[in-house]
Amino acid sequence: MSRVLVVTPHPDDEAIGCGGALCAHSEAGDTIRLVYLTSGEQGGHGLPPGETARRRETEAGEAARLLGAELTEFWRQPDGALRATRRLVARLRDLVADWRPGLIYATHDGEMHPDHRAAARLVRRALRELPAAVPTPAVRLFEVWTPLQHMDEIVDTSAHIERKLAAIRAYEHQCSVLRFDEAARGLSRYRGEMHSWPGGDYAEVFVSLRP
Ligand SMILES: [Zn+2]
Repeated sequence: MSRVLVVTPHPDDEAIGCGGALCAHSEAGDTIRLVYLTSGEQGGHGLPPGETARRRETEAGEAARLLGAELTEFWRQPDGALRATRRLVARLRDLVADWRPGLIYATHDGEMHPDHRAAARLVRRALRELPAAVPTPAVRLFEVWTPLQHMDEIVDTSAHIERKLAAIRAYEHQCSVLRFDEAARGLSRYRGEMHSWPGGDYAEVFVSLRP
């Protein structure tokens, strides 16, 4: 059993990018802690920011339950203007130093969404600042808006695809505008067929964090 930390820029990225892997962690008895850096308040599609944030946080709770995450927290950074500030780097560094996850998930560096790139920068900087006595966790960076061209790890998610999709659909408001569930099913199927051979039908892929 180990501790798994997920650093997600917006509520829904964790389900889309590593939802299948999280289901596997939860079945293996790992403890999952989800840190939502922003509450996605700018993604209201007509709803005011405050209402959007509340709605997405509520939906995140349901997604987290489906994915088997025991701990969730909202850091309420500005959506669309996420920065790896010194204060935020220190906050994440202290969390890692105190809680000691063995593995961290976050969005990858090449994502087209600037908040997603900021999340990768944040993790990199926080780990650089870890005290020497704290073991450096492994890091898997996942894809949401920009599919990875190079990957270091492939996780067969065939056994968990329906639960992953249910977690994505828990974000009802986002899915009412964009069918993230269908997009994720398609990409997972592509990864399964093209990269997981002779594995299962569905897969998620990850790139390791380069220091
Ligand atoms: Zn996002």
